[in-house]
Amino acid sequence: MASGYPVTNLYIAGHWREAEDHASLGVVNPATGEEIGRLAKAGPVDLDEALEAAAKGFAIWRAVSAFERSGLLRKAAQILRERAEDIARIMTMEQGKPLAESRMETLAAADTIDWFAEEARRTYGRVIPARASSVSQLVIREPVGPVAAFSPWNFPINQAVRKISAALATGCSIILKGPEETPASCAALVKAFADAGLPAGVLNLVFGVPSEISSYLIPHPVIRKITFTGSTPVGKQLAALAGLHMKRATMELGGHAAVLVFEDADIEMAAKLAAMAKFRNAGQVCVSPTRFLVQESVVGDFTSHFLRFAEAIKVGDGLEADTSMGPLANARRVDAMERLTADAVAKGAKLRLGGKRHGNKGNFFLPTVLTGVPLDAAMMNEEPFGPIAIINSFTGLEDALAEANRLPFGLSAYAYTRSAKTAQAVTAGIETGMLSINHHGLALPETPFGGVKDSGYGSEGGSEALEAYLNTKFVTHAHI
Ligand code: NAD
Repeated sequence: MASGYPVTNLYIAGHWREAEDHASLGVVNPATGEEIGRLAKAGPVDLDEALEAAAKGFAIWRAVSAFERSGLLRKAAQILRERAEDIARIMTMEQGKPLAESRMETLAAADTIDWFAEEARRTYGRVIPARASSVSQLVIREPVGPVAAFSPWNFPINQAVRKISAALATGCSIILKGPEETPASCAALVKAFADAGLPAGVLNLVFGVPSEISSYLIPHPVIRKITFTGSTPVGKQLAALAGLHMKRATMELGGHAAVLVFEDADIEMAAKLAAMAKFRNAGQVCVSPTRFLVQESVVGDFTSHFLRFAEAIKVGDGLEADTSMGPLANARRVDAMERLTADAVAKGAKLRLGGKRHGNKGNFFLPTVLTGVPLDAAMMNEEPFGPIAIINSFTGLEDALAEANRLPFGLSAYAYTRSAKTAQAVTAGIETGMLSINHHGLALPETPFGGVKDSGYGSEGGSEALEAYLNTKFVTHAHI
C-alpha cells in the first residue's frame, strides 16, 4: 500500500469498522494506475445497522438546539482546516487533481460548514394573522428526517460537505454513500464531524456497490429524503425510485455549459478565465464550461488566446509542484475522451490541440481544443466531463441562445459582454439554473447551486439548500 494513504472503513453508529463480512474494494491512484489502498464494502447487514443508527441519531439530533448544532458544525470546520494539508495529499493520491486544488477544496469545505452553521440558527417559522382574535396560526419548520445521500468522485469532499452540512444544520441524520473511487478524503471529512463530538448515529458513512446501496436505502421507511450528485441517467433512476416511495429528492446532475462570448467582450480576459475554468479538475466538473460559442467577428482572436492558455497547462501527477492538470479520475473517462474526439473529427471538426492520451501510465489525457464541431457530433450532445473545449461560432444573440438552449441540460452557463443590454437578454433568455457573466463566480456556500431541465432540481447552496431538508408544519390554535 502507498505510504500515507489510509485504509478506509465504514462509519456506523459512531464506530469506524470493516464490513460485517470483511469485504473490501481496491483504490487506485489515477496518476500511476497502482492500487494504493482498500476500502470496506458494505453489505445488507451493514446497511441495516446504518439505518437503525440513523433512526436513533435523528431522535437525538433533532432534540439538540440549533445553537448547539451550530457550535458543533463550527468545531468540525476548524478540525478540517487544521487537517487540510494531510487531507489534500490523500485527495490528490486518489482523485488525481493538483495538490493546490485539493487544498482549496478542503478549505472551501470548511467555509461551507461554517456557513451552514450560521444558517442553522436561522431556520425561522412564521406567524400568520388569523381571522379570529382568539386563534393563532403558526408555521413551524421541522427536520425532514434521516437522509440518504450519494456523492461522487470528482469533488470527494465538496460534493459530500454540502449534503452533510445541510442535513446536520437542520437537525436531520444522514447516511452518506461516499465515492468508492475516492473514499479516504471523504472519510476524512466525516472524521472531522465525528471528532468534533457529533452523537453516534447522526452521521454514517458507507461504501459499496452504488446500485445495491441506493436500491436498499431509498425505499426503506427510515429514509425520508434523498440527495444525489452524479450523472443524469442515474439521477433519473434514483428520482423515479424516490418518487415511487414518496421521498423528497434533490438531484444535482450533469450539465453541458455554454459560454457565450460576444464581440464587445474583453476577448483575452474571456479566453483566459474560460481556459482556467475548463481545465480545472481536468474538466470533471458539473459546471465546467464546455461549448464556447463565440461571435463570428472575434472567434479567431478568442481561439488563439484560448489555445495559448491551454498550451501552457502542465499535465502531470498532481503531487508534483508544477502540475496544473492531473489525470482523469478513472480509466473510463479517458476512453470517453478518445471516443468523443475521434467521433467529432470524423464528422468534420478541426482538432486544434491535444486529443490524445499522455504518457504510458495513469489516466492522462491532454488538454483538447476542437473548432467547428458539427451539431451531430456526440460531444455536442453528451456531457464530455473531461478536458475537452469546443469552440464554435455564432452570428447574433438569437442563434447563440438557440444553441445554448438546444440541449436538455440546464445547470450552468456563462456569458462575456460589456453590453448591459446583451447581458440582460442572455439573463432572460437562457435556460439554466446558474449564470455567470464576465467572470466565473459559481459555487459559493451562500449562493444557490442547482440546475433545471435534465440537470436536476433543488439547490445545494444558499438558503434554498436548507429548505430541502425541512418540512413545513402548520399549526392553528384556538385559545380556549
Ligand atoms: P456513472 O453514471 O456510472 O456514475 C455517476 C455517479 O453516480 C458516481 O458517483 C456513481 O458512484 C454513482 N452511481 C452510479 N450508479 C448509481 C446507483 N444506481 N445508485 C447510486 N449511485 C450511483 O458515471 P461515472 O462514469 O462515474 O461518471 C461519469 C458521468 O457522471 C459524467 O459524464 C457526469 O455526467 C456524471 N457525474 C456528474 C457529477 C456532478 O458533479 N454532477 C459528478 C460525477 C459524475
